[in-house]
Amino acid sequence: MAVIHYDADERLLSGRRIAVIGYGAQGHAHALNLRDSGHDVRVGLYAGSPSWVRAEAAGLRVLDVAAAAAEADVLAMLIPDERMPGVYAEAIAPHLAAGKALVFAHGFAVQYGQVKAPADVDVVLAAPMGQGNAVRQVFTAGGGMPCLVAVHQDATGQAMELAKAYAKGLGAARAGILETTFREETETDLFAEQAVLVGGVNHLIKAAFETLVAAGYQPEVAYFCSLHELKAVIDLLQRQGFVGQRRLISNTAEYGADLAGPRIIGEPTRQAMREVLAEIRDGRFARDWIAESQQGCPTLEAERKAEEGHMIEQVGKPLRAMMPWLSG
Ligand code: NDP
Ligand code: MG
Repeated sequence: MAVIHYDADERLLSGRRIAVIGYGAQGHAHALNLRDSGHDVRVGLYAGSPSWVRAEAAGLRVLDVAAAAAEADVLAMLIPDERMPGVYAEAIAPHLAAGKALVFAHGFAVQYGQVKAPADVDVVLAAPMGQGNAVRQVFTAGGGMPCLVAVHQDATGQAMELAKAYAKGLGAARAGILETTFREETETDLFAEQAVLVGGVNHLIKAAFETLVAAGYQPEVAYFCSLHELKAVIDLLQRQGFVGQRRLISNTAEYGADLAGPRIIGEPTRQAMREVLAEIRDGRFARDWIAESQQGCPTLEAERKAEEGHMIEQVGKPLRAMMPWLSG
């Protein structure tokens, strides 16, 4: 069973200067939650970054990355994973000193050897189990997003306590601070986003949409029933689990799903999942992604372009525009 903490000793973080490097999805949530928890936060960005103005507008002090790294002793690395090696070598590493700490929200850069910190620096993970906007929204509403914590390198003997204090500053003690390892977080996070959260779900939706349209149904109807309605049932699942979801859907939906579900997600899909996981575990996926990003992401750019042209996007855009109540 996982070790879950519902409290942590914040003193490990109070009195320390925190630099949040990057002010995007995670960076803005970490910087604001930590500040509102009473900690000393500054933000590190590059000159000309569009995020700079947003961070200042939120009342935060912004410096360039090197200056923030020099000034602070707890450095949260919240820039895109593929940018970490370059930014680390150029602007972070020269300013590290014994007893400083690096905090990551995802283990990729450390687990696959992209960032190698000197031995006298703590390297920890504080990975909220949610998208950045939700990490901030849940906190301002008085709740907390659960957070994984782990230690890659414990130079001070207090690295795990520091990670827990940082997670508490994010609000996570209210919901649960779970101990894990960099390896477990990295591999499960990559697997989940590939197999379920984005890869699996998005392709399931498109396959259903294309099946309906090919059979002659109106694309707008196919859009609503295969994409739009997903949120409500997933919200039910998040709030009440599978048994609770069953109570709230129709008996017809429940019976049909029990018959069709195992046919849609059968052995070939499970075999593909095992293969995807194996490629993550043996480093093949990381090697591919690092090579892709070093070449300027040609495959990723082509996929983005192709998706913009997909009928589900063409159909969906005007339909969404008429539903301004859709949040975020
Ligand atoms: P984003 O792309 O949302 O934000 C990145 C931020 O870094 C932006 O503010 C960007 O500035 C800034 N930035 C980019 N390049 C540089 C640079 N060279 N120097 C300084 N700042 C730079 O990233 P995410 O928040 O998605 O990801 C950050 C980390 O959090 C990653 O490790 C990711 O895996 C992890 N994570 C992300 C989650 C999420 O919710 N997206 C969930 C859990 C973990 P600008 O935009 O102004 O160029
Ligand atoms: Mg994650």
